[in-house]
Amino acid sequence: MQIDLRSDTVTKPTEAMLVTMMSAQVGDDVFGEDPTVNALEQKSAQMFGFEAGLFCPSGTMTNQIALKVHTQPLDEVIMHRLSHVYNYEVSGYAFHSGVAVRLLEGDNGRINAKDIAPLIQGKNDWEPNTRLVLIENTVNKGGGTVYSLAQMRQVAEVCKQHKLLLHLDGARIFNALVAQNMEAAQLQGMFDSISVCLSKGLGAPVGSVLLGNKQFIAKARKVRKVFGGGMRQAGFLAAAGIYALENNIDRLAEDHRRARVLAETLQQQDYVVEVLPTETNIVIFRLDDKLSGEKFVNRLAENNIKAIAFGPQWIRFVCHLNFTDEMLAEAVSVLQKIGFY
Ligand SMILES: *Cc1c(COP(=O)(O)O)cnc(C)c1O
Repeated sequence: MQIDLRSDTVTKPTEAMLVTMMSAQVGDDVFGEDPTVNALEQKSAQMFGFEAGLFCPSGTMTNQIALKVHTQPLDEVIMHRLSHVYNYEVSGYAFHSGVAVRLLEGDNGRINAKDIAPLIQGKNDWEPNTRLVLIENTVNKGGGTVYSLAQMRQVAEVCKQHKLLLHLDGARIFNALVAQNMEAAQLQGMFDSISVCLSKGLGAPVGSVLLGNKQFIAKARKVRKVFGGGMRQAGFLAAAGIYALENNIDRLAEDHRRARVLAETLQQQDYVVEVLPTETNIVIFRLDDKLSGEKFVNRLAENNIKAIAFGPQWIRFVCHLNFTDEMLAEAVSVLQKIGFY
């Protein structure tokens, strides 16, 4: 049995998803003529209460397009130190948009609304103009942490009060919604744009959608083209996204349950000194100094389990739809026997 806990991006389309993909109606999406892409964009926008959507090849692209459309050079974006946009998108905010970033702290990747206002600047010639706030939900590097509805509302209110735009990196927003028993529509009115990954826990092979108002998405379409992300008969991929939205949201609760079992198992092992609060499908933990992350990952590999070291002593496990209860039982038994040896 091969177990892959590196990421929820490793999932492969199920038979049913593949059948849906193969029978998709397609056209040239650069001409706006792919009915399946249009349907995915409309469906996802409606779910979150937005006017329009844009299908893109990746979550990095949807985030980077949002930054580009919302800002201009000499602007500044406020985000948490653990943000994906700050850590894992090759500093694209500087490369594509020529903006600066101001970092916030906050427990396990969540920013606090009250910390925003003191950072706002732009009155003086020597300061960049604070334009945009970005939050991530769930926070990948925070251990899959979730913002409550109240926390998001507070951030949104501060942004409105100070005329700042607000973008949500919702790569795993459905994990957050399922964990909180919330519907996507409850986010309506809070954000100027949302990026949603279809290729993570939702199990589609490729793609993300960017959501916003009509004017924002019209500009985003142009930026997608200059970034090289205008795809042609992309409906085959969009069909997988529609299938994922229709079939794979509720089952995320199973991934969360399995992640909790992994977290509880890890807490009982003497080689683990800390497990971050496990609220969704991600488990991040710190190893005792006597066991390096590299060594631990190698030992897991010898036992047919793939995982990622997240820094010298930190490991991340991610549960997903190709990680079954049978694999969970096997993973638990490996974690229990692995030890320092
Ligand atoms: C994966 C991820 C992205 C980017 O998605 P890609 O499709 O891999 O480019 C953005 N934000 C977060 C929080 C992610 O986990």
